[in-house]
Amino acid sequence: MISIPDAEPGYVYLVGAGPGDPALLTLRAAHLIKTADVILPDDLVSDEVLGIASPTAIVIPVGKRCGQPRITQAGIHDLMLEHASAGNSVIRLKSGDPLVFGRAAEEITFLREHSLPFEIVPGITAAFAVAATLQTPLTDRTRASKLILATAHHAAGKLSLTPSWSGAFPDEATLVIYMPGRDFEALAQDLIASGIAPTTSCVAVSRASTPEEHIHITTLAELSSTNVGPAPVILLIGPSA
Ligand code: SAH
Repeated sequence: MISIPDAEPGYVYLVGAGPGDPALLTLRAAHLIKTADVILPDDLVSDEVLGIASPTAIVIPVGKRCGQPRITQAGIHDLMLEHASAGNSVIRLKSGDPLVFGRAAEEITFLREHSLPFEIVPGITAAFAVAATLQTPLTDRTRASKLILATAHHAAGKLSLTPSWSGAFPDEATLVIYMPGRDFEALAQDLIASGIAPTTSCVAVSRASTPEEHIHITTLAELSSTNVGPAPVILLIGPSA
């Protein structure tokens, strides 16, 4: 029997909700979600995961795309402070892992500045869920000795990678691109220009680990936005993809 403590009054928990399937929650995350007073979920957190919360929990969606007037990062901080100071246990629930493209740095700084006790609970990041779905290793003893988690963003009207690399793209690397945007042709051109061979395998996975999961297998040169399915989408590029 595994003993897992309940969410504690006045505590804030930065919790990874995994990629969507509630069976991929950690035991710690599931128990905290069941016992917390207040839950502040991102828009990518699935309904199935939120469905295990206590019926008495206050759930306040703080996703940036949930159709509400856009909540600011400062607004999220205020909610954490307000509810934890009132003696509630608060979960800031993020898709995947809370420390991978989750704006956790700002929240950790805020919590420290306000001396709020907090705990971070890891989750299965989208890259790991997708690799399992595809039954493909992200590293491979003979072909892929490095794993790069990157994001694409639009800057000055041009799609580029952050962090970018100077010089040639490393050999034998698997590249996973979170938030790839919608202009896959431009992204592919950018990657080819940075030295990745156009023939490199590329897999786009939409809504991984949910019933709507869609997998599109192609090469970098052939990558276009038409077949990739609805957001969220993640790209896996490299010798083992
Ligand atoms: N913290 C999250 C990432 C948040 S950034 C994690 O560790 O997974 C949001 C991006 O993650 C999306 O744009 C998409 O690229 C990726 N993502 C998250 N969930 C996904 C899913 N179920 N299927 C495909 N991509 C997903």
